Amino acid sequence: MKCKVENLDWVSYERLVSNGDRKIIIPVGAIEQHGPHMSLNPDVLIPDYIACRVAESAQNMLVSPPIAYGYKSQVKSGGGNFFPGTTCVSSQSLENYVHDVILAFVEHGNREFLLINGHFENSMCLVEAADRAVRQARLAGIDIKVILLSYWDFISEETIGKVFPDGFSGWAVEHGGVLETSIMLKIHPELVDMSRAVDIPPAEFPPYDVFPPDPSWVPESGTLSSPLKATAEKGEWILEECISRIAATFR
Ligand SMILES: [Zn+2]
Repeated sequence: MKCKVENLDWVSYERLVSNGDRKIIIPVGAIEQHGPHMSLNPDVLIPDYIACRVAESAQNMLVSPPIAYGYKSQVKSGGGNFFPGTTCVSSQSLENYVHDVILAFVEHGNREFLLINGHFENSMCLVEAADRAVRQARLAGIDIKVILLSYWDFISEETIGKVFPDGFSGWAVEHGGVLETSIMLKIHPELVDMSRAVDIPPAEFPPYDVFPPDPSWVPESGTLSSPLKATAEKGEWILEECISRIAATFR
């Protein structure tokens, strides 16, 4: 794919970014269990796919390699950090890593960035990374702009209604549920095995967190709702809406 920074040679890359008008999209995800029916990487593959499609729809965007390791999975949004396979980093590590990657791209002459988040828990680490990068660049006399978004914020009520005709239980319990599974069935069906999908009611949690986390709060499957009604068609509805709305906002 031509939009991927890492697939370019340095001479072509330098030519593309030399006048500073490229926007660099950085997908940020997590390696986190998503139930027995799906691979560990939906939070990486989904924002990466969206990033590439958004970049293809414009002339002035390049996609950075995705940042695969995200901030620690939390019980009430990702099942918790104790699941085998869930491989996460501290907030400081993620913040510093994203901050450093942005500033490395700034050194090359890039001035505009779009962070596409695919893992809820990353949110505030990315806020801090973006904020610090902007202030750090300003100290060197360089003004940069960083836009931060989570792709699910671009899904309309109307699409939610279509994807969840029996009612929507809320974003918090969508971990490994219909939404992510449908998107994965569309973009990476080889990484989903619906015969292993577990049917459970949406998880319910008390209105507080506890540390150390209590695994008995989490459904055994690791998903926080049932993925059984996921289909590739629903995945396509969600993706097309996210991609067109993100592209329209940042073109
Ligand atoms: Zn996820």
